[in-house]
Amino acid sequence: MSGNEINRRDFLKLMGVSGAGAALAGCDMPSTVTLEEGKEEVIPYVTPEEYVIPGVGVWYASTCRQCAAACGTHNRVREGRVLKVEGNPGSPVNHGKLCQMGQAGLQGHYNPDRLTQPLVRKNGALTEASWDEALGMIKQHAGSGVNGGRTAWVTGTVSGHQAALVQAHLDVMGSAAHHYVHEVVNNAVGQAVNREVLGEAQPRYLFDKAGVILSFGADFLGAWQSPVHFTGEYAKFRTTAQRGVLVQVEPKMTLTGANADLWLAVRPGTEGVVALGIANVLLTKFNRDGSRLSADVRTTIARYDFDTVTRLSGVAGDRIAKVAGWLNERSPSLVLSGLSAEGQGHGYDAAAAAMLLNIILGNVGKTIVSGGSFPFTHLTAKAGNTQSLTAFADGVEKGGYDAVFFYNTNPVFTAPGFMALGDKLSKVPLKVVFTNFRDETAMRADVVLPIHSAYEEWGTHVPAYQGDDGFIGVQQPVMEPLYATTRGFGDVVLDLLKMRAADKYNAFPDYYAYLRKEFAGLPADVRKGAGEEVFWQQALQQGLVPVKRKEGGALSAKAVAVNIPDYSQNAEYPYHLIPSPRLGMWDGRHANLPWLQESPDQISKVVWESWAEIHPQTAQKLGVEEGDYLRITSDQGTIEAKVYIFKGIHPDAVAVPLGQGHEEYGRYAKGRGVNPLKILSPVHDGKTGELAMFGTRVKVAKAGRKETLVRLGGSEAQHGRKLVATITADVFRRTEGGGKDVV
Ligand code: SF4
Repeated sequence: MSGNEINRRDFLKLMGVSGAGAALAGCDMPSTVTLEEGKEEVIPYVTPEEYVIPGVGVWYASTCRQCAAACGTHNRVREGRVLKVEGNPGSPVNHGKLCQMGQAGLQGHYNPDRLTQPLVRKNGALTEASWDEALGMIKQHAGSGVNGGRTAWVTGTVSGHQAALVQAHLDVMGSAAHHYVHEVVNNAVGQAVNREVLGEAQPRYLFDKAGVILSFGADFLGAWQSPVHFTGEYAKFRTTAQRGVLVQVEPKMTLTGANADLWLAVRPGTEGVVALGIANVLLTKFNRDGSRLSADVRTTIARYDFDTVTRLSGVAGDRIAKVAGWLNERSPSLVLSGLSAEGQGHGYDAAAAAMLLNIILGNVGKTIVSGGSFPFTHLTAKAGNTQSLTAFADGVEKGGYDAVFFYNTNPVFTAPGFMALGDKLSKVPLKVVFTNFRDETAMRADVVLPIHSAYEEWGTHVPAYQGDDGFIGVQQPVMEPLYATTRGFGDVVLDLLKMRAADKYNAFPDYYAYLRKEFAGLPADVRKGAGEEVFWQQALQQGLVPVKRKEGGALSAKAVAVNIPDYSQNAEYPYHLIPSPRLGMWDGRHANLPWLQESPDQISKVVWESWAEIHPQTAQKLGVEEGDYLRITSDQGTIEAKVYIFKGIHPDAVAVPLGQGHEEYGRYAKGRGVNPLKILSPVHDGKTGELAMFGTRVKVAKAGRKETLVRLGGSEAQHGRKLVATITADVFRRTEGGGKDVV
C-alpha cells in the first residue's frame, strides 16, 4: 500500500464490512457498522470469549435453508461471525458438497436489506412497530376467545419441528386442515403417478444401477427435488464400469440436458407421445414383456408408430429407435419425469407414459426401490405444489379466512397473474408474514415479523427425498443474531400457541427448550443409549440425527391407462411459453443475492437480467437478433425481454427464466427483468389440478428496441483459439462410449 492513500472508510469497504452492514464484535450482541446511515461503531475484538482464538475459525454443523433439499452444512465461524459455508461430509443427502445457492446463503444473512423491525399497517401504510404492538394486533384475531376456525397458514415446503408447530397452531385455532404449501418448482405430478403406479409417492432412485437414464424433463442436476444429492448420484452413474448413458427429452435444454449424451428437443406437451413411441418399439421390435399392461394400454401404445410420434412431437423416428435400443441393451435402466411443467394439461398422463417404460423394462425393484417410511410422521416434509395455492386463493375469494400466516413463501410474486392473489388478499382482515425481507407478500401484509436468518435460529428438517439414509437434520444458530430486534420463527410460533393454549405451552420459555424436550423424548433406538445431554451434543456436532426408515417392501408396478390427446396448434398464439427454473435464481427467492445474480445462467451465461430464449429458425422467422427486445403476449398479458438465440430449444418454444421481475425484495432484486409467471394462462393438469407450467400459448413480435444482452463470455465462438479441445466421433466412440455408439 506504500505510496497509496487509503482512508479508513475505503479500508472498511475493502474488508467487506460496509455495504453488507456487517459487524465486528464478540459473540455477544454485535455492534453494526452502518456506513450507509452515516454511523460508524467498530468495537475492537480485545476481550474475546474464553473459547475464541482470534484468527482461528471454528466449524459448526447445521442445515442449508436455501431450498427444501436440506443438505447438511459446516459453517466456519471466526471472531463470532459466520464467514463460509461448506457441505457436511456426514450428510446422506449431499455428502460434503454444496451448490451455489447454499454457498450464497450468507449474502441473505448479511444482506443490507434485512428487515430488522416489526411492521404493522396503520392508516393503510406499513410502519415500524415494537414486537408487543405487532403481537398485540395478532392476538386480537388469534388469541383465546376468538373464533379461530377461519385461520390459514401458507408456507413453502416445511418439515421438522417447524411443521409440527405450524400444525399445532392450526389445531389450537380449530383450523387443522388449512395448511397450504406452495412451490412453483415442484414434482407433484410425478409423485401422484408414483403413488398410483408404485404405491409410494417418493421411491428411491438408484442411479448407479442403471445403464441408461432416460429423463423426460427431470432437471436432476439443476432444479429437481435434491440437486446436490442427484449430482452425486449422477457422478456414480457416469463412473460405473459400463458408464451410464443419459438421454434427456425436453423442449428447452436444462443443465441436465446439457450434460446428456443425447438431447432430444420435443414440442412442449408431447413428451408422453415420445414415451409411448419408445414403448411401442420395445414391445414390437425387442419383444419386451408387456404382460403387465392391460389390453387398453397395449392398444394405446400400438397407435404410436414412428410417423405419428414424429408428426406430433417433432422427434425423428431413428432417434426413437436409438433410445429404445439403448434401453433394451443396457438393462436395467431408469426413466424419470419432471412433467409438472407439461405443456398441454396432461402432465399426469405423460408421466404415467414414462412410468410405463419402467414397467416394460423391469426397472421397478431394480433402479426404483421403496424409500421406506419415516417413523416420525409429524416431522415429514409437507411438500409444496401449485394446486394447494389454487385452493387457498379460492378460499380467500370466498371470504373464508379472518387470519392468514405466511412463512417461507412469497406467493404474491410466485402466483400466476390470473390468480390475482395480491388483490384477493385484501379480503383477509389479518395477514401476518414471517420474513427476513420486504418482499411482495410482506408489502401486502398487516403485520410483518422480522425473523432470524437461517444462521441465527434453531430448527430441524426432514427432506422429502432422504438420500441414502433417514435422518433429522439439525439447524443451530452458528452466531449471535445480527440484530437485537429479530426473533426466531419457532420462538414466535410458541408465542402464538401460548395465546390460545397457555396451559400446554407456557412450560417452554423458547423454541430451544421445546426442541430439547422433543429430542429427549426420541425413542431409545434413535438415541442409541446415549444420555440426554450426550445425545443432544452429538446431534449438534453431527448436524443430524440418523433415523432408520421403516422398510417399505416391494413396490407395486400397476400400469395405469394413459390418454394423451393429439397436439393442437393454436393459430393466434403459436408458441409455448417456457418459464424455466434454474439452479441459482430457483423460483425468484434468490434474486436478492448478488452472488447468484452475478453467477451466469448455466446455458445462456446471462447475468443480472431476464432474456427470451428462441431457436435460430424462430429468430430468422421473426427477423430478430441477440439483444432485440421480444414482445411476448399471452391471453393474460405481455412481457418484453431481450432475445438470446440458441439451438437448444424447440422452434415452437420461447423460454423466459424464472426469478426476475420483482417489484419489491430489496435493492438487488427490485425492478430487474420480467416475471413470466404473471402472463401464464390457467391451464391445469386434468388429473392433479397442477398448473401446466409450459401450457401457456403466446405470440411473439419484435418490440423495436435493442440493448446489449449482458453475458459472461460474450461470445460462443472460439475465434480460432481452440479453447475447447475437440475429437472426432470415431475417437469419441472408442474412448467415451465403451465401444458403443452413444452419439
Ligand atoms: S440443494 Fe443447494 S440450496 Fe438446496 S439444500 Fe442443498 S446446498 Fe442448499
